[in-house]
Amino acid sequence: MTREEYVRAYALEEGLSDEWAYALGYIEDKGKVLIALPCGCWAHDCPGWTMVTPDQVNPHLEVFTPKKLRETFTEVTKELGLRGESAIRSVI
Ligand SMILES: [Zn+2]
Repeated sequence: MTREEYVRAYALEEGLSDEWAYALGYIEDKGKVLIALPCGCWAHDCPGWTMVTPDQVNPHLEVFTPKKLRETFTEVTKELGLRGESAIRSVI
């Protein structure tokens, strides 16, 4: 499933507009922005994508993305001194 397919299906299921799904991979839900990110949560029915709010982006990238992306994100944020331990704890 592509990111666009996932965003359009999510919008349809939730009764939300998918006008930004193609270009940007996000949709709006009652004034709140939801962003599609790759998911590596190991649930048997996981479509490989998930919707997160802006404040969930970093915790998601640190914990629930596919291994290669998670390791790359962790390495880069560590190099830049941006790693947020409190963000990780907030989702576990
Ligand atoms: Zn998942």
